Amino acid sequence: MAPALYWIRRDLRLADNPALSAAAQDGRPVIPVYIHAPDEAGAWAPGEASNWWLHHSLEALASELAARGVPLVIRHGDSLAALESVIEATGAEAVHWNRLYEPALIRRDKGIKQQLRSRGLEVHSHNAALLHEPWTVQTGTGGDYKAFTPFWRACRRHPEPMAPLPIPGHLTAPAGIEGLNGALEPSDKGNAPLTALQLLPRIDWAGGLRERWQPGERGAARRLEDFLEAALAAYDEGRDLPAVAGTSRLSPHLHFGEIGPRQIWQAVQSTLARHGAEDGLLHGAEAFLAEIGWREFAHHVLYHHPDFPDAPLNPRFADFPWQADPGGRLLGAWQRGETGIPLVDAGMRELYATGWMHNRVRMVVGSFLVKNLRLPWQDGEAWFWDTLVDADLASNSLGWQWVAGSGADAAPYFRVFNPVRQGERFDASGDYVARWIPALARLPARHRHAPWQAPDGVLADAGLTLGVDYPHPMVDLKASRQAALAAFEQIKKPS
Ligand SMILES: Cc1cc2nc3c(=O)[nH]c(=O)nc-3n(C[C@H](O)[C@H](O)[C@H](O)COP(=O)(O)OP(=O)(O)OC[C@H]3O[C@@H](n4cnc5c(N)ncnc54)[C@H](O)[C@@H]3O)c2cc1C
Repeated sequence: MAPALYWIRRDLRLADNPALSAAAQDGRPVIPVYIHAPDEAGAWAPGEASNWWLHHSLEALASELAARGVPLVIRHGDSLAALESVIEATGAEAVHWNRLYEPALIRRDKGIKQQLRSRGLEVHSHNAALLHEPWTVQTGTGGDYKAFTPFWRACRRHPEPMAPLPIPGHLTAPAGIEGLNGALEPSDKGNAPLTALQLLPRIDWAGGLRERWQPGERGAARRLEDFLEAALAAYDEGRDLPAVAGTSRLSPHLHFGEIGPRQIWQAVQSTLARHGAEDGLLHGAEAFLAEIGWREFAHHVLYHHPDFPDAPLNPRFADFPWQADPGGRLLGAWQRGETGIPLVDAGMRELYATGWMHNRVRMVVGSFLVKNLRLPWQDGEAWFWDTLVDADLASNSLGWQWVAGSGADAAPYFRVFNPVRQGERFDASGDYVARWIPALARLPARHRHAPWQAPDGVLADAGLTLGVDYPHPMVDLKASRQAALAAFEQIKKPS
């Protein structure tokens, strides 16, 4: 039987993988190929944290495949040329892949499908990443959704997602495919040829990431299992508390396709069936699945508005009077977590150290950048893109346009988060802030979110000198809020 090529992209798993299952159907020999072609993503080539993750995830996948006697073939450069060279070398007659939804990649994939089909190959793409692909959810008039609630309601009216596919029982590789990896020169003695892709940072800043994460399908499965057992029942409240592990932290695993939403859906249903549908668990499950729904919504919006990552969905925001930031002083302080506003700084430091930040804190740091500092949301989006291990074009754009008030179903611009109130409400113990800003841990909890308001005696007892151990606030929260609202007045539609 002529072999089939399975083109691996962001679907780094063996279970519930329709492209792999289709390629391996009827015992056909499979050639799994990963092609590193970051430039093909256009302006949004993956950032440093994503590359770190990708390296380890590919390593994990390669070892799962090797355990089944199938080597992972790795190539870099132009995807079409790489596919053609592997096809030529192996005599493959079919190519399968799972779909991606970023505009530049949709264009690329369509072109490749046409080219390969015109050469007589059998080419199929599949859905591994979403419960509902963007074009399958439509309003009554056949349009796209602009708001989450009706979108999710429409999704829930669709038939239940298909049951996840098992790992193909038996995988075989065509003889001689090991030799295909010779085309890449290893850059050092590591697990060549993966190291030749140079995904790992030259200066090792990734210690915090290694401590926190286990990239790969097994790490994803373990995280889901732990979350369902330990946190699902309390998710509805727990998800807002950055000091506790109240959310799943599945986002990077989902982004890289180490787990798919159908598997999550089914695992939630099984948990409900196993524990009986008590109230807390039901609420937790509904709230959690709705977050999976936000991920679907983000893909829906990006698909229907391809310039969503770069331009405000609400065109009025194109004229927003942003603040000048000569030398990037304001942006730099925000990026380094040195704004003097504890919840903002704690979030930015968590991001830098671990590649992840709690959702509540993402909203707070975003609001602070866009409203209190009045810097363009695209600056925040770009920093997140480089530093998040879950950096995802659809979800990141949605998050930033939500924060800026310019996007689909966005927070109204005039609703400016007060980071001190947010801290007092969602981190009442101050534990989160103390964890990421050790200097503030010496303060009593009630002063941790606004140290500049603490009496001198309290600061002295804590041995804390503002401006030395921790910065003074870089802006006055009240005055900067007023300035943001005044700026917003300038772009409001004349009534
Ligand atoms: C400014 C900003 C930028 C963001 N950038 C990203 C990003 O680049 N990548 C990313 O995956 N998420 C992004 N989010 C959404 C959200 O913060 C993360 O998905 C979430 O914090 C991940 O943690 P978790 O896996 O523990 O989430 P959980 O609460 O356990 O949720 C489960 C899953 O649902 C999805 N999800 C949850 N909330 C959202 C949301 N608001 N939008 C889209 N999907 C969601 C994620 O895939 C997540 O893993 C951003 C949010 C904001 C406000």
